[in-house]
Amino acid sequence: MGRHAMSDQASPATRKFLVNLLAAMLGAGLFVFGFGAAWLVLRPQTGLIALAGALIAALLGFFGRPLHSLAERWVHHWLPRGRSEVDTRRILREYSLSLSSVLNQDLLASTAVGLISEALEIRRGYLFIVNHEKTDNQDIYSLRGSKGMGEGTSVAGSLRADSAIVQYFTQNRRPLNQQAIDTLPEMQAMAADEKSWFGDLKADLYIPVHAKDEWIGLLALGPKVSGKSFTEDDLWLLSTLADQTAVGLQNARLVESLMRVNNDFRRAYAALEQSNRRLEQSNRQLSRAHAQLEKLDRTKSDFIAISSHELRTPLTVIRGYSEMMKEDEIIMEDPARTKMVNAIHAGILRLHEIVDSMLDMASIDSRTMQLNLTPVSTYLLFQSVCENLKKPATDRNISLEIKDEVQNLPRVEADPDALRKVFHHLVINAIKYTPDGGKITIMGSATARGLRGFQDDGIELVVSDTGIGIDPAFQELIFTKFYQTGELALHSTGKTKFKGAGPGLGLSVSKGIVEAHGGLVWAESSGHDEELCPGSQFHVILPLKSERPVRWPNPSRGNPE
Ligand code: ADP
Repeated sequence: MGRHAMSDQASPATRKFLVNLLAAMLGAGLFVFGFGAAWLVLRPQTGLIALAGALIAALLGFFGRPLHSLAERWVHHWLPRGRSEVDTRRILREYSLSLSSVLNQDLLASTAVGLISEALEIRRGYLFIVNHEKTDNQDIYSLRGSKGMGEGTSVAGSLRADSAIVQYFTQNRRPLNQQAIDTLPEMQAMAADEKSWFGDLKADLYIPVHAKDEWIGLLALGPKVSGKSFTEDDLWLLSTLADQTAVGLQNARLVESLMRVNNDFRRAYAALEQSNRRLEQSNRQLSRAHAQLEKLDRTKSDFIAISSHELRTPLTVIRGYSEMMKEDEIIMEDPARTKMVNAIHAGILRLHEIVDSMLDMASIDSRTMQLNLTPVSTYLLFQSVCENLKKPATDRNISLEIKDEVQNLPRVEADPDALRKVFHHLVINAIKYTPDGGKITIMGSATARGLRGFQDDGIELVVSDTGIGIDPAFQELIFTKFYQTGELALHSTGKTKFKGAGPGLGLSVSKGIVEAHGGLVWAESSGHDEELCPGSQFHVILPLKSERPVRWPNPSRGNPE
């Protein structure tokens, strides 16, 4: 270890006593000497002798402190204070114990400096916490430190990473003294501001503190009280204390970063709680709005159900009478009257159809639609629908073709009346939205499994036209009730005229019926173009075996897919 045990074992109390005794003796000696001299010179004037005695006493009082320091130095000189093995171990143990309980870097710095200064009897000292700060613009080591021994404010400095002294401290664990900084050739390259910063510290010795290979601290120590220089023993002790300081600093750093993380976490948690509260609030508002919407929708459905029901009875009566009037001989004889009655009858039929659709819609909305399931040939159904619509189609020179493959499709379990309505709406729409001279084709396929996620055995039917097509943005919306893309001004036109719009119920009723069978319906078209007429394809999937669907859709809210 290269250290030697010192022989002097004088306790601090003994040393203090000796210093005080020596100081008192020095004072007394000087007084006796001064008073004797005054007595010899001023012997005849006793009054002046007394005055001189008082003057000497006052001078001694004034120079009391330097006398005490002189006495201190002499005692240190005669009784040099060495450290025994026991002392060194005690210092190390006390140091490590004291530091282990300090978990704040600044507090640790001042505690460490205080302990070292006390143990080595040093006039002043600093422990700097070193941080390497590397950004795009600069690469520096910042030093933040608290003065020890209650000397007041904290000090800070910053050193460039390529500075000679930084190179020394990052690569060496050995202490460096101020004299080396002033004289060593490699230190001459140091920047003036860095040199003067070290000079201002008035420290004699610097001991770097390393954690593994990282330079994390710097102990700067002033001169000893005794005025003597640091011994090999002191340097060994200081290096060991620096290692312990490193452990303490690392712990404090860890705790501080944990506390930072904890604080960040708390802040994030508080923000999360706040946004949760906001979310709950908007959720409550949303569910209130949802409930209101549902209420509104129910009121609308109730209105449709009641009004269509109430309209149906008088309509049936009017329809009956209009049919009777059509066959009345007197009316038949008069062409003008016949024309009027025929128009009334056609209008009533149309009204009946609309009221029927409203009733269907109401039963779909209230989920009370009754399906009378029976094996149905979709080919025969399409044939009868096309037969009924043959006249309006030929009036507008539109061809209606059912492909042979439809004939070969297996029967499906369905309600034929309900399904007829679906096919009727699809074909009549195809006629309505196809210009004169166009073509409507009905195709079919016996394999529907896997299409649009359909999982059962079923068939696919497609009503394809050469009409104006549908913008992809509206291909789902057209299945919502009362939805039309056509102009309202055209509503009064005939139901099979080109673009003659209806009440906007046909597709939503069709969707309700198909889904009530457990099937799917959707539209495909490359877009809407009244010049180029890209055409539309309406696809219907029907299961071979119809069960009540698990999810009963509400067509007023659009496609649930
Ligand atoms: P409407 O009574 O208005 O025909 P629908 O529910 O049957 O009501 O149709 C809704 C809308 O879908 C129509 O207004 C029309 O814009 C569009 N549409 C339906 N079928 C076709 C088609 N074959 N070609 C182009 N557009 C269509």
